[in-house]
Amino acid sequence: MSGIVHLVGAGPGAPDLLTVRAVRLLGEADVVFHDALVGPGIISLIKTKNRIAVGKRSGRFATAQAFINKQLLDAAKQHRIVVRLKGGDPMLFGRAHEEIEFLVKHGIEVRVVPGVTAALAASADLGISLTRRGEARSVAFVTPRVGEGTRESSWIRAALAADTVAIYMGAGEGDAIAAALLAAGKDAATPVAIVASASTQEMEVSYGTLGRLPRWTSRGAPALILLGEVYADALAAALRRLRKASQSA
Ligand code: SAH
Repeated sequence: MSGIVHLVGAGPGAPDLLTVRAVRLLGEADVVFHDALVGPGIISLIKTKNRIAVGKRSGRFATAQAFINKQLLDAAKQHRIVVRLKGGDPMLFGRAHEEIEFLVKHGIEVRVVPGVTAALAASADLGISLTRRGEARSVAFVTPRVGEGTRESSWIRAALAADTVAIYMGAGEGDAIAAALLAAGKDAATPVAIVASASTQEMEVSYGTLGRLPRWTSRGAPALILLGEVYADALAAALRRLRKASQSA
């Protein structure tokens, strides 16, 4: 008789943005495998001593994923409740599919607990709707990170088509992303917000445009690039503040 593997969304960082179900499972789990990035406030909700960080180092994704899959399978054969804790929502850029497919193929039951994804936490911090009425009717969640077997340009098409765009795993290469979007015809005046560490004390926001990307200081922290006209007012306000500050300096 094998156990159940729960893929649990850890949310964007703030422990009180976990779902009630996630908190319950963290208390009940016999073993927890968590992303290296999940913070201490959330880790402290895990009751079992059986907790394992399974962060992936970039460049070795495939082997690392196969290893995680195997660890989850072995754990499910030994334990009743296995939790795989993933940042944000497991079903968005979380490699949930690989784990589900592998486990189901081996006869293991998998259940998924949704979490608050980074783009929703960032929108909450900004106080700006992704679908502000009159400005945006569509949102694209994209990532320029290209995995095996994916087409490089497919994210660009989505980013051109949607009114608001949330770019995951891209902040470190913002200049290359902006260049690719501009080359594909996106307007250089498109307002941009970069939000780092959404939902936490370290949250940082900077505004700019696609032609003049905002600079932000908390490099190394997880950050999201948001684009779209819905950020136009906030950009204008940020520019006014900047002008005032430089006048009084
Ligand atoms: N499954 C996760 C995303 C994993 S990809 C989710 O649903 O949120 C990792 C990327 O998510 C990071 O590179 C960054 O772009 C974004 N991210 C995760 N947490 C974040 C946070 N607190 N603030 C801003 N961006 C975040």
